[in-house]
Amino acid sequence: MFKRVLIANRGEIALRVIRACREMGIETVAIYSEADRDAPYLHLADEAICVGPARAADSYLRIDRVISAAEIGNVQAIHPGYGFLSENSHFAEVCRSCDIGFIGPTPEAMARVGDKNSARSLAREAGVPCVPGSDGIIASEDDAIRIARQIGFPVLLKATAGGGGKGMRVAANDLALAPAWQQASAEALAAFGNAGIYMERFIDRPRHVEVQVLGDTHGTMLHLWERDCSTQRRHQKLIEESPSPRLAPATRAAMCEAAVRLCKTAGYHSAGTVEFIVDQEGNFYFIEVNARIQVEHPVSEMVTGIDLVKAQIRVAAGEKLWIEQKDIVPRGHAIECRINAEDPAANFRPCPGRIEQIIAPGGFGVRWDSHAAAGYSVPPHYDSLVGKLIVHQPTRKEAIETMSRALKELRVAGIKTTVPLHLEILALAAFDNAEIDTKYVERWLAG
Ligand code: ADP
Repeated sequence: MFKRVLIANRGEIALRVIRACREMGIETVAIYSEADRDAPYLHLADEAICVGPARAADSYLRIDRVISAAEIGNVQAIHPGYGFLSENSHFAEVCRSCDIGFIGPTPEAMARVGDKNSARSLAREAGVPCVPGSDGIIASEDDAIRIARQIGFPVLLKATAGGGGKGMRVAANDLALAPAWQQASAEALAAFGNAGIYMERFIDRPRHVEVQVLGDTHGTMLHLWERDCSTQRRHQKLIEESPSPRLAPATRAAMCEAAVRLCKTAGYHSAGTVEFIVDQEGNFYFIEVNARIQVEHPVSEMVTGIDLVKAQIRVAAGEKLWIEQKDIVPRGHAIECRINAEDPAANFRPCPGRIEQIIAPGGFGVRWDSHAAAGYSVPPHYDSLVGKLIVHQPTRKEAIETMSRALKELRVAGIKTTVPLHLEILALAAFDNAEIDTKYVERWLAG
């Protein structure tokens, strides 16, 4: 097992990894930017090294500085968390060439699933259903029109290097297609340095359901069932839950098996997520693989009882998985609400600033994963996640009740947060009846 691990991240996920390492008897080296100098969790690491100024491009994203910190910190491995360098296959490769373990998939597997168009090809190869669409990158306007007519309007243009909803455009007809393609392409080039666009049929009012997978380097690949992340705004997840309400048992089983098959075909190990959309008839289609731990991983941990971060560390150190698929029996229902420093009443304007007081909720079935504390200032330079409130109860109904109670108990004074929005969503009949699709919240907010 590793003796010392560097965490190439910040905020709640850095703390999450520090906690796992401390329980495993592994020393930790945290890195921080000048803006995070006073982050409370840094004191929990055995060493903390500054990697540069506030701007992520000058600190958390600087491979040379992160690797230098790993060398100064004398670590055997790096945990990349999510975001930043976590899905950068070049970074994983640099770690390997420096003889530093990377707590994640191999750079080859990461590259295979990281490009969305090639991930679609892999999925087809593995017999996993994909949204009907183009076979590859769209080469010309004529090409776009031909394919769109074949699959039927409306269509969705997507950046092959995409992420965070960037480089996506819907086109309703022939006329709208060329400008949509040009816009998507330009946006993708600016955001990812890759203008490649592919096309999918636009699925009306889908649900977003994703499968958590976990594999070791000895050929075992398991799934930890699914999460439903349909409660989103502008492709940003707000609330996640497991199991997915209203998913037919046969669909659930088929999706989980498909996710495992796809990851085996990709030569993938470690933790990962295979994302699908489910249409109103209950058909599921692969959309992408996330080659890292995800923000919403705790809901899967709560229902399966498996600590995913510890599992990632153990398989990265070469250990065999200690469980079999039949042992992973989901128990009860878990829900997570992302508490962001944003003002839902002012079009979700980010609200960085000093937290004067924070009262974390507790009690039966409540988990609060947060790096924030009284006196902590949420910096304006990074995502606005202040904490994740997770509940676990025997039934969905009880989980909703506990979440509402815990949200009312949570007090974050000094900044605006998304707590009031979560309370409103939880009170919606559509949430109660599990009728939320990926565009529901936007329609409801507009109304
Ligand atoms: P990104 O990596 O940029 O987040 P995804 O491929 O994961 O992009 O898609 C983000 C969201 O867009 C999905 O959760 C879903 O809500 C929506 N989406 C993706 N593909 C389709 C599709 N073919 N039809 C309708 N909605 C889609």
